[in-house]
Amino acid sequence: MEKKELLTISSGEKAQPFQWSVGRYGSKFLAELRDHKRILGIKCSSCGWVYVPPRRVCGKCFVEMSEWVELPPKGTLTAFTVLMFSFVDPDTGKERPVPYGYGYIKFDGADSSFPHFLEETDYKKIKIGARVEAVFEEKRRGHLLDIKHFRIIPK
Ligand SMILES: [Zn+2]
Repeated sequence: MEKKELLTISSGEKAQPFQWSVGRYGSKFLAELRDHKRILGIKCSSCGWVYVPPRRVCGKCFVEMSEWVELPPKGTLTAFTVLMFSFVDPDTGKERPVPYGYGYIKFDGADSSFPHFLEETDYKKIKIGARVEAVFEEKRRGHLLDIKHFRIIPK
């Protein structure tokens, strides 16, 4: 039998640091998260939808929004997955340990869903519709990962 050889190709290792602006709305959202552990959404004056994270223009009716609303750090899980295969985390440049949960959370009072990590890694213990709450990092830096993850609120 012919022995098979597994070939790999490496492009070497090279750091490629980069930065980008999160804009006025993103800056306000992240600063409130960092400084006060506050979740800010923005409400459309036309259709009443509340978006988290905030965006400048309503995706439904294209109206510019300016009505900020504070939401509780709790919500409902609308979708989830548990990742079993690692990939390079763009925030750290290192592979994120697996397994980890990832889901979409609809904050109480919001209409959009917010994607983030889940504390729970056992998919059998996660249900769509579960009540979840944000767990904040001790040291926050004005980043989406100032929310460490969402944990399921026991019934
Ligand atoms: Zn709207």
